[in-house]
Amino acid sequence: MTQADAARTEDGDLLPRVADVFRKLALNEQWKAQIPTDPVLGPLVWRAARRYVAGETASEALTRIAEINRDGHRATVDFMGESCHDAERAGSEADAFVALSKSLAAAGHDCSVSLDLSHIGLAIDPALALRHARRLAEATVAAGQEMMISMEGSDRADAVLDVHGALCEQFDHVGVTILARLHRTADDLPVLLSRPGRIRLVKGAFLEPETIAFPRGSRELRDAYLRCAGALLDSDHLCSFATHDWDLLGELDRMLTGRPRTGVVPWEFETLLGLGPGRLAVMRAKGHPTREYVVFGTEWWLYVCNRIAEEPERLFRAVADAAGD
Ligand SMILES: Cc1cc2nc3c(=O)[nH]c(=O)nc-3n(C[C@H](O)[C@H](O)[C@H](O)COP(=O)(O)OP(=O)(O)OC[C@H]3O[C@@H](n4cnc5c(N)ncnc54)[C@H](O)[C@@H]3O)c2cc1C
Repeated sequence: MTQADAARTEDGDLLPRVADVFRKLALNEQWKAQIPTDPVLGPLVWRAARRYVAGETASEALTRIAEINRDGHRATVDFMGESCHDAERAGSEADAFVALSKSLAAAGHDCSVSLDLSHIGLAIDPALALRHARRLAEATVAAGQEMMISMEGSDRADAVLDVHGALCEQFDHVGVTILARLHRTADDLPVLLSRPGRIRLVKGAFLEPETIAFPRGSRELRDAYLRCAGALLDSDHLCSFATHDWDLLGELDRMLTGRPRTGVVPWEFETLLGLGPGRLAVMRAKGHPTREYVVFGTEWWLYVCNRIAEEPERLFRAVADAAGD
């Protein structure tokens, strides 16, 4: 019996409650600032975080990206941070993204740049986020890189899609992420298919009420994901299937049977650092383009809480990592 099975047996359904705790921790702004800098807890939790985070600096991320490219996968890199409420800081964070794009180009890596718009001003003023995002779009287009916008909680979805729409009037290399969990995605997708730029399909990480979102692990969510995937494939739009779910990966592979895998292949499979190297290797061996999503930066607490909340069994691994096992 695994530790996770024991936890379930001894205390009813413990793991879903662990997941809820971590989702709430992930949203706690005070802990986000305190835990990583705490002299006792910080180094301990950092050891567990290293599985999912390339490092605190861009140069550590570049080293990881080179390894991923050597393994035959594309990469994308995200300088972590979201919900920035300080306009000056939003500007300097945008500068850091522009510098990152230049470093990737100088190193010759096959790597796109991913970001949360709330990291560069969306939570302050969407017009500010658009100004900064435009600067990054100019830098990435000059460097021949894709730029991918993440999707945030449903309360920000309209603002994220509006900024993406404005960028698409000027650029054709800016992609966006859609959440299969959200009911609204069925209406958003046709609009996005009329825009250029890759569409990344994910299940959705945020806590959302069931009035607007399918529950995690539900049949409805699986069906919604596959419906969106089908629409993306039918349209031949550039897309990314970003999931670690073996069931979905198998189903998508079946949907792709018979499609040519040479020349410009519109789809790719994408996983988060530390969660899917085995999955990427399998999909690559089947001839699919693959990409790994590398995160770095000092704001890793929230990110790591979200990863544990998604699969609370990772908590046992995190404890072992922290203990140095
Ligand atoms: C490249 C990339 C970019 C992303 N960008 C965003 C973004 O911009 N915005 C966002 O909100 N999210 C984003 N995410 C996160 C995403 O929304 C999911 O939260 C995350 O990927 C987990 O879902 P999954 O599809 O990988 O599969 P999971 O649902 O985590 O499935 C993985 C494993 O867990 C099992 N499992 C599934 N459900 C249950 C359950 N109820 N109980 C027990 N086991 C279960 C599955 O069978 C499978 O084996 C991104 C993910 C990736 C890979």
